Amino acid sequence: EVAAAVEGIRRLARHVSDFPQPGVLFTDLTPVFADGPALRSIMRALAAPVAGRVDLVAGIDARGFLLGAGVALELGTGVLAVRKKGKLPPPVHGEEYALEYGSAALEVPAEAIELAGRRVLVVDDVLATGGTLRASVDLLERCGAIVETVAVVAEVPGLGGRERLDGVGLHCLTTV
Ligand code: AMP
Repeated sequence: EVAAAVEGIRRLARHVSDFPQPGVLFTDLTPVFADGPALRSIMRALAAPVAGRVDLVAGIDARGFLLGAGVALELGTGVLAVRKKGKLPPPVHGEEYALEYGSAALEVPAEAIELAGRRVLVVDDVLATGGTLRASVDLLERCGAIVETVAVVAEVPGLGGRERLDGVGLHCLTTV
């Protein structure tokens, strides 16, 4: 399943220079997700290593949402949307993190669901600097969750993402 997923990514991903800022090579997985067999093989490849080891999948705003629900269906778990600040009704737990310019924050419900002791798989599309996933892991752990693994479709090497997630299990289908 991993081989099929990687083949789909290689064939269909678009690489766009200088987006959203000069100097960034943006990996657009839209055409990959729009392909039925590629999407299915990605869901299966992300789910397989943690089958039976997690009871919740957390998808990161916004492309992680697409992956999170599909992976959760594969695993037979529920899904949690880790949202950008201001989208969820209170009460929430939040985690701020630095961006290149300024900062952002991610939020999860504080009372609507119990995270303490839940074994969580965190999913997103691309690991770049790792700031987003680091903040997601810190947020979920602060809520008492046990982050089993962070799984991404693609890793952009050389930006320190892997190092930033030191101590967290990391599963990348491919590098771009
Ligand atoms: P980061 O926090 O730097 O690891 O990046 C976080 C988010 O930005 C990820 O959820 C990606 O969706 C997106 N992103 C960052 N860099 C890229 C890139 N080079 N190509 C595609 N998406 C990216």
